[in-house]
Amino acid sequence: MPELPEVEVAARNLRRWTKGRRIRAARAGAHALRVFRPAAPDALAALDGARFRDLRRIGKNLLITLDARRGGAIGAWSHLGLTGKWVRRAAGQPAPKNSRLDLQLDDGAHLHYVDPRMFGRFRLVPAARFDELPEIRALGPDPLTDGIDAAALHQRLQRTRLPIKVAIMDQALLPGVGNIQASESLFRAKIDPRRPAKSLSRAEVARLARAVRASIDFTLASFAEAGVDGGGEDIVYVEERRSANPFLVYGRAGEPCPRRKRGGRETITRIVQAQRSTFFCAACQR
Ligand SMILES: [Zn+2]
Repeated sequence: MPELPEVEVAARNLRRWTKGRRIRAARAGAHALRVFRPAAPDALAALDGARFRDLRRIGKNLLITLDARRGGAIGAWSHLGLTGKWVRRAAGQPAPKNSRLDLQLDDGAHLHYVDPRMFGRFRLVPAARFDELPEIRALGPDPLTDGIDAAALHQRLQRTRLPIKVAIMDQALLPGVGNIQASESLFRAKIDPRRPAKSLSRAEVARLARAVRASIDFTLASFAEAGVDGGGEDIVYVEERRSANPFLVYGRAGEPCPRRKRGGRETITRIVQAQRSTFFCAACQR
């Protein structure tokens, strides 16, 4: 499922692909109503002739600003949901499977929003006033763009009854951190995911903040290595069958702990917290 690093790759690619470009035609897939709700797919005609101006990412949200053909700004809010991705196809190449939106650009290329399960969203935002969307206003500072204020995070964690793994997936605290990055960060910080969030000391929260950044940077580096940051290859998510797993503990139940020394027996355990899988090592995460 796309989290901050996957959406950051989408943001970088979309910036490259759309720089100075205009949309020649926007077309919605036949069965994609859910993605565009509440707007009717024909509302997308407002994008015809619009020129890309700016793209911001906050957490898992892509906020795209365009200059409309008839003047004024038009916004598009893209959220990748569970299975969404943005891919580019050069003129003449066949469209990918499960394309829900096809933006043909003035260089002939097509940008497709692909989403097999359609839990993602693509919504037009009048005058690009993204701050008027409650979902966007509720987000905390972005861990990659703005950094993590460990002291402020510690204060917020003091006020929750949730286990730390569940608490750090709150988009108001650390937008973009989801199930994968939460497990990975807690492993890196050697903190037990079951501990009450309020039991973490300031030093532990500072360690966790550094671990979140390290995990995001590591994931971005692995995407760069795979050639998907730059658009040479389509991005593949870890849940997809043909994908390799670059993560330390995520999806590795029963495998040896990466910190295990010769002759050791520690293995990665999977538990369920708030209906989501958590992966951790009970020996080195305290
Ligand atoms: Zn371990």
